[in-house]
Amino acid sequence: MKFIESERLVKNSLILALFPIVGLIFSLAVTVQDANPDRDSLRDSLARINEPSVRATVSFLASNELGGRGTPSPGFTIASRYVASRFDAAGLEPGGIDGWYQNREIETSRLPVGGVTLRSIEGGPLDHFGLLAAGRERVEFSGAVAEVKLADEFSSGQFDGPVVAVETDPGGARRYLNNIIRATNRLKQAGATALLLVVPEDHPAIALAQSQAGKDRVANPGQQSAIPVLLVRELKAGTEISLSLPSAVAGVAVVRNTIGVLRGSDPELSQEAIVVTAHLDHLGIAENAIGDKIYNGADDDASGVTGVLTLADAFAALPVRPKRSIVFMTFWGEESGLLGSRQYADDPTWPLEKTVANVNIEMIGRPEAGAAGKIWMTGWTESDLGTLMADAAKLHGGTIFEHPKYSAMLYGSSDNRSFVNKGVIGHSFSAGSLHGDYHQLSDEWEKLETAHMTQVIQYLFHGIMPMANGEVTPKPSAERRDR
Ligand SMILES: [Zn+2]
Repeated sequence: MKFIESERLVKNSLILALFPIVGLIFSLAVTVQDANPDRDSLRDSLARINEPSVRATVSFLASNELGGRGTPSPGFTIASRYVASRFDAAGLEPGGIDGWYQNREIETSRLPVGGVTLRSIEGGPLDHFGLLAAGRERVEFSGAVAEVKLADEFSSGQFDGPVVAVETDPGGARRYLNNIIRATNRLKQAGATALLLVVPEDHPAIALAQSQAGKDRVANPGQQSAIPVLLVRELKAGTEISLSLPSAVAGVAVVRNTIGVLRGSDPELSQEAIVVTAHLDHLGIAENAIGDKIYNGADDDASGVTGVLTLADAFAALPVRPKRSIVFMTFWGEESGLLGSRQYADDPTWPLEKTVANVNIEMIGRPEAGAAGKIWMTGWTESDLGTLMADAAKLHGGTIFEHPKYSAMLYGSSDNRSFVNKGVIGHSFSAGSLHGDYHQLSDEWEKLETAHMTQVIQYLFHGIMPMANGEVTPKPSAERRDR
């Protein structure tokens, strides 16, 4: 920012002091002629987007005290209360169903910590790395284990008790778990009551098991194993064992989206809204991890939530509110499968046909090398939103661009997808990279570049402005309309 204008204002006030009457007339004339009305009206708003405030917000959201904001968890609930308080302080109206909130009661399932017994009847206790998945029922077994090959369809085998398999290809931990879950369905049909999976001690499934244990998770039927899966160090077919495995712990919890509305100033256009969002949840606590146990999710996505809160402050500080309304919102359950945004899209508090666009903010805290202050948008070719926002941001020195690798790849990977699925223009805006701390315990706020974040939020503010004022309206690309 340049401050030439304010020097001029100081001079004007000196003249004003010396020649009160003449000076007043002169000063008014100067104001009309010289002052940049755009910059003047934005001054208070831009002042709200400052680095100390950005750092204070993101460091709170990513603090250990909020325990990684898991879905569901007390830390997540406190974080959503904080979002509501900030919306309130900014001067927004509650936009949820229950005040600021759109609540949802969910069924939960918890992988128990401990309680596993595995012994060789001849040789005493056998090493294991804990449960990767628990079943609905407790398993008690004494006898010999049969071996299976996971790649097989198990069409020939019939089992009566637990089976043992040796895992060969780990792949990515999540994909791996999905493959195992599919295998357990087939195994159960073949009569198996548990899967004992032999893994090397550096296998990613062990870290995954540790991160899941003791945490209430959304009981998502598609992600649940049909039988318990225990990770073991060594076990051969035919070994006589005694085995005791606890069942998953079922419960219920309440989660919520948090919604605030900045009502537009134009009687007609205020019925339309831009929905600015980010996901508040992250991966919670890794109960069994050694050392740091908290998935702070600083970049993913405390940074995006900080963007939403700061933009709410900035837009609400305008001397005249934008003509269109702006709905600010944070979601639950993105990491569990975009669940909060799906809930909203199925049951919107602002009509989807009056929703101009969803601007979703994801990971703006850690730029790629050489890209500080620059923003990329996912799904660039799906609508002209990127171009419209880039043009507006450019007037203030900002860059919004199509990332050669991630823009297409990540279009369906975040909450904007829930809007797109309902025919609403929706994109995610990121100014980050898929760094080594992504989805790790080490995604800490101290690693964020808060000056970069602050700049990015300012450019998003400028980028959204013409759309908020009804000067431009994004439309889907011709290609997309034809689909
Ligand atoms: Zn995320």
